[in-house]
Amino acid sequence: MTLVDVLLPLPLEGKFTYILPPALAIDVRVGSRVIVPFGAKRQYTAIVTAIKEEDVDDLKKLKEVIAVHPDPAPAVTPDQLTLWTWIADYYLCTEGDVLRAALPAPLLHPALRKRPRSKRKADAQGESTTLPPTLTPAQQQAADALREAWTRRPVALLHGVTSSGKTEIYIHLALDAIAQGRQVLYLVPEIALTTQLSDRLRRVFGERLGVYHSRCTDVQRADIWLRQLSDQPYDIILGVRSSVFLPFQRLGLVIIDEEHENTYKQQDPAPRYHARDVAVVVAHHAHARVLLGTATPSLESYHNALTGKYSLVNLKERWGAVLMPVIEIVDIRDLRRKHRMSGSFSPRLLGALRETLERGEQAILFQNRRGYAPMMECPVCGWVPRCAKCDVSLTYHRRLGQLVCHYCGTAYRLPDACPACGETHLKPLGLGTERIEEELHALLPEARTARLDLDTTQARDAYEHILDDFACHRTDILIGTQMVSKGLDFAHVSVVGIMNADTMLNYPDFRSHERAYQLMAQVAGRCGRRDRQGLVILQTKTADMPVVAHVRHYDYPTFYTEQTDERQLFGYPPFTRLIFIYLRGRDERRLTDASHLFRSRLDTLFNPTRVLGPEAPAVARVSGLSIRKLMLKLEPSYSPSVARSQLRQLLHDLNAEGALSGLTIHFDADPM
Ligand code: ADP
Ligand code: ZN
Ligand code: ZN
Repeated sequence: MTLVDVLLPLPLEGKFTYILPPALAIDVRVGSRVIVPFGAKRQYTAIVTAIKEEDVDDLKKLKEVIAVHPDPAPAVTPDQLTLWTWIADYYLCTEGDVLRAALPAPLLHPALRKRPRSKRKADAQGESTTLPPTLTPAQQQAADALREAWTRRPVALLHGVTSSGKTEIYIHLALDAIAQGRQVLYLVPEIALTTQLSDRLRRVFGERLGVYHSRCTDVQRADIWLRQLSDQPYDIILGVRSSVFLPFQRLGLVIIDEEHENTYKQQDPAPRYHARDVAVVVAHHAHARVLLGTATPSLESYHNALTGKYSLVNLKERWGAVLMPVIEIVDIRDLRRKHRMSGSFSPRLLGALRETLERGEQAILFQNRRGYAPMMECPVCGWVPRCAKCDVSLTYHRRLGQLVCHYCGTAYRLPDACPACGETHLKPLGLGTERIEEELHALLPEARTARLDLDTTQARDAYEHILDDFACHRTDILIGTQMVSKGLDFAHVSVVGIMNADTMLNYPDFRSHERAYQLMAQVAGRCGRRDRQGLVILQTKTADMPVVAHVRHYDYPTFYTEQTDERQLFGYPPFTRLIFIYLRGRDERRLTDASHLFRSRLDTLFNPTRVLGPEAPAVARVSGLSIRKLMLKLEPSYSPSVARSQLRQLLHDLNAEGALSGLTIHFDADPM
């Protein structure tokens, strides 16, 4: 009797076996999509992972495959199945979780149906005939160094300053790979840039380019997936995080732009994978080369480069020999004391903005907080409005007239008076992008401004419109969160203002300085990209922090050394591998007991000095669920696969004992 093992799109461990009726047998191969019954009366599209001939004693125990999707070729390749197994193991989730993240939703529809085809809008935009710009001698040297490095190691890190022309180098190397008959995967961080960049790539690659970004519809995603399996796959895919799951037939090069970006890591739901790291594994399986590019490397990648795991290529000059922007530090603590600040603006920043407008140039203002103010406070009794479901204060959104929880999204009306003492004037504390825009309107009424943050980019195409207006100089000053730091390339931006470095620097996380360095250096890199040197005004209350000086001098190596000394001392990556364990539940008591039990069991498996917690994380309750966190720091010598199977077993045992009932547990491997 022919049986098949299938992978279901459900968060369940293991595969499930079904009988394959003879009438369906000729159409089924490993990787085929089949429809199977599961549970009382549900049906799912599942992926065949094995076909086997076996005698079955008790036929009643097994159900039959209902139908096979009429795909010209199996929808999933054997390489992909191998990858999914690896991801599930490494990131401590199920293969079903991976399947759901990987396969576009229409391909998982649990019924046979004609799939709607997307109109190939992108393709209609025509052929490429355009050659990419000729590389400058410095760029050529970097490209040659990369080609040479690949003869020794498959992964290379290109550390090139902002606006050094890394994109042009990627394009040349992608053309190399395609000329050799190989395919290219070009990864960019979520939301970032895909419009500006896809226009740039479209000019060179024309119809050979497929774009797999966050705004693609599910049907467009399914189209790209199937096209990759056809005899006319795209030569190059420009994609965000999830494009690492696409099938490739002859992958030759993976480019990971802005490799330091933490949006490459999926936070929720499982699989909590890091697309950069998965891409390196994908490339390894395909014998492809990898190019990591950035002006501000992650400490992990730079460490790999310095220790010889990756090659390192430096590119230190900007294209067109423009000098790196001057970064001026402004001590706003001092200015505040002397009452010389206009709201959030120092005289120096305001002056620079005025001059910019007079010269007909543009500016970018960066503050990594959206909304008007991160907190409201009663000036009389100190009452602060908090979310009823989460353990956080609410952010004031003035235009909406609402208080919004940034963790669960719940919106509340701003109370007319303090419920504790009746005071009617609640005071906004702290600085968000909305407040900056309002202050700016009062200070520089002639400036045309736009805001780029999560609130202004909800509508489809809103992101593109805001960037387009800025590119065409219909707006003068762009105010935004980390979104404005991501690789934007505008010709007329001469000033960047970093409104307040301190919220980033004081964030309680071992990566906060790394992140702050990256954000500040990246946003600084948005100005002075063409003819004239740019100016960055960096406002801070802690001007003497070493990281501020390193940003100012573009001194990444010293920054790296200082940070890694600290990481080594306290046992953080890249010197250990971290696994976080989160427990969530409504019942505080049960949660506390369970997390202490979890901890004591971990102590029997691992060196107790390598186990930390349980602790309540910075935000210890979200959407009504309280949270505890345990942390494992594993030495590099400790086999990750052994640790993982121990953790799985422990979770299994605790579940079997009923110790975790009413709680949800998840693991986060290599947390960001
Ligand atoms: P990076 O990715 O390193 O920040 P980009 O690749 O975006 O830099 O290059 C910055 C700007 O300089 C872009 O507008 C790009 O078109 C231009 N540029 C870079 N290299 C060249 C070149 N060799 N010829 C013409 N223009 C170039
Ligand atoms: Zn009050
Ligand atoms: Zn909330």
